[in-house]
Amino acid sequence: DIEMRIDKYLANMNVGSRKEVHSLIKKKVVTVNGELVTIPKQQVKETDLVAVDGNKIAYQQYHYFLLNKPKGVISATEDRSQQTVISLLKTKDRYQGIAPVGRLDKDTTGLLLLTNDGALAHELLAPNKHVAKVYRAKIAGVPDPETAKKFAQGLILGDGTKLKPAKLKILKQDQDNNLSQIEIQIQEGKYHQIKRMFGAVGMKVLELDRVSMGKLHLPADLKRGEYKEIDLAEIK
Ligand code: URA
Repeated sequence: DIEMRIDKYLANMNVGSRKEVHSLIKKKVVTVNGELVTIPKQQVKETDLVAVDGNKIAYQQYHYFLLNKPKGVISATEDRSQQTVISLLKTKDRYQGIAPVGRLDKDTTGLLLLTNDGALAHELLAPNKHVAKVYRAKIAGVPDPETAKKFAQGLILGDGTKLKPAKLKILKQDQDNNLSQIEIQIQEGKYHQIKRMFGAVGMKVLELDRVSMGKLHLPADLKRGEYKEIDLAEIK
């Protein structure tokens, strides 16, 4: 059971800052199970009925954030020397246990889900779930139909790893400069997977951006480094 101070509870539920919450308590508008709260350190449980001005404030244990990851930050919760994706969250959104669901490389951009719902993270990352991930990339090289066929059949990487079928779409080609824009859909998330796939066919990934993961798509209005809170129904 979750139990915490009423001021923390209200601040966690984004009713206001700790200071603002203290003034609400002073104003005698906060109740727990119908009883007026007078001290900020009063303990409440998640099952208690908390209200502010008569409006119920339900406890939400899990939070889900869709981040548009910029380059230069690492997909970790803490690091001694490098900026992490968690540090991009405002302090009030840094819930206990919040972590990225999977990883994007430091130089990769785009959709990354952050949550403190460990069970969901586990579910999305389970290798047998085949949650589809779509990336757009700038490639040094010009993939031909043969490349797409190899990807579709399940590419074998240099170290012998056999991959699941992947869909490759060419968006733009610049033969003169040996550059391409592509879109690729994969069903797994192996370490450096896209970079290793193109490496296996003699090409190099210059830029990599994730646009979707399962049902989740990067919203067009979400800038690099920005995030929005979503609810579980949007993920499932
Ligand atoms: N594949 C990669 O090579 N890097 C990423 O960040 C994601 C997929």
